[in-house]
Amino acid sequence: MSSPGIVTFEEARHSVEQQAAQVSPGESEKVQLLAAVGRVLAEPIAADRDFPPFPRATRDGFAVRAEDLKQVPIRLELVGEIRAGYWPDPGTCNVGIGQTVSIMTGAPLPAGADAVVMVENTKRTGKSVEIQRSVKTGENFVPRGAEARQGQTLVDRGTRLDHAAIALAASVGASALPVFRKPRVTVLSTGDEVVETSATPGPAQIRNSNTYSLAAQIEQAGAEAVRLPIAPDDPAKLRSLIEEGLKHDLLLLTGGVSMGKYDLVEQVLTELKAELYFTGAKIQPGKPIVFGSCSAGIPARLPAANPQRAAGETQAPQRKYFFGLPGNPVSTMVTFKLFAQPMIAGLSGAKPAPLIFLKARLKSEIRTKTGLKRFLPAVLSGEFENAEVELAAWQGSGDIAALARANCFLVVPPDREQIAAGEWVSLLMP
Ligand code: AMP
Ligand code: MG
Repeated sequence: MSSPGIVTFEEARHSVEQQAAQVSPGESEKVQLLAAVGRVLAEPIAADRDFPPFPRATRDGFAVRAEDLKQVPIRLELVGEIRAGYWPDPGTCNVGIGQTVSIMTGAPLPAGADAVVMVENTKRTGKSVEIQRSVKTGENFVPRGAEARQGQTLVDRGTRLDHAAIALAASVGASALPVFRKPRVTVLSTGDEVVETSATPGPAQIRNSNTYSLAAQIEQAGAEAVRLPIAPDDPAKLRSLIEEGLKHDLLLLTGGVSMGKYDLVEQVLTELKAELYFTGAKIQPGKPIVFGSCSAGIPARLPAANPQRAAGETQAPQRKYFFGLPGNPVSTMVTFKLFAQPMIAGLSGAKPAPLIFLKARLKSEIRTKTGLKRFLPAVLSGEFENAEVELAAWQGSGDIAALARANCFLVVPPDREQIAAGEWVSLLMP
């Protein structure tokens, strides 16, 4: 087993992104339009006709010929009316020289007109309208096909569907959408001191919270969590649970990856001939994080991914990826966000999404040590654009309560040992 060792945050993230770009999602399934929210689109959505399908007025007002309005105010003859949902009657709604037609937002622009004057800039008296402001050709309407041409892709394959994408699907008449199957992500917490949440812990035991924080993060990332029983610090039992976990799309282990004598995860993964991409990252919290993959002894995922494949043809064993996340609860949550999430995106068939960093002003000075990039629980406050941030008081990577009070992570670069109040700092949103 090669061991590339401890890498920087950026190297670790790139390493995951590189592997995530190579994995394929599961088979696709069709789901009802609203059940597709948050799922990843398996086939592009195309425009079924031009968008808009007609030159669409964007204001209530009067359809005009812009060149009639070189001098304003000017009085135009009112020859008709077009409401949204009605096609202009060619007999009454052609706009000739010196003429106008009353038009509503969302109605088709009539022949002859090349602009719309807002009703606020007009004064109607009986069969004529005084136009008080001139407009340029093209003003206040969207030309036919300006948003998309018939057949053009509106939403790409690999898009995670949000409300805007669902609106596009609805606008082309899709009542169901093809989406990729959610990846199944196994969670395996390890450690002799860890007991089930339903148990009464002994004096030196703690309840398992990592399985639950991870399952919650997995579900929020659009995947399905598979929870395994807690693995004791016993090589044989750990190995059989790891093998079980590797049957699914991704395995997240927690605990047992730092340098303690009973940290057996790396040892078992070595026996399973794992390839390791990194065995630690220069970050805090979360330094003892391991990323790797295994192929030995793991059955290949069966067909569906490639229907053209001849029946009975054997598939090369698929690599199964795993993360050994640190056991400290805050470290577990942070490293999931930084590293496991992009791999889940890849396995979901989603296009890679960048981490989003915001800037805010630091409320009170920070003093720390150099060498690690820190993602420290922090509280973002201040109304509207006046974002201010300060560190949450915490007792280190085991302090779940501090994390629950925080609403973001303050990013401290590895070369800073002091940041003054008032400086702009980067935040990572949870
Ligand atoms: P480890 O990474 O195994 O050295 O564990 C680091 C710290 O995290 C220790 O204090 C463990 O007791 C704690 N820990 C490990 N696993 C869990 C878990 N599943 N839930 C809550 N805390 C844990
Ligand atoms: Mg342990």
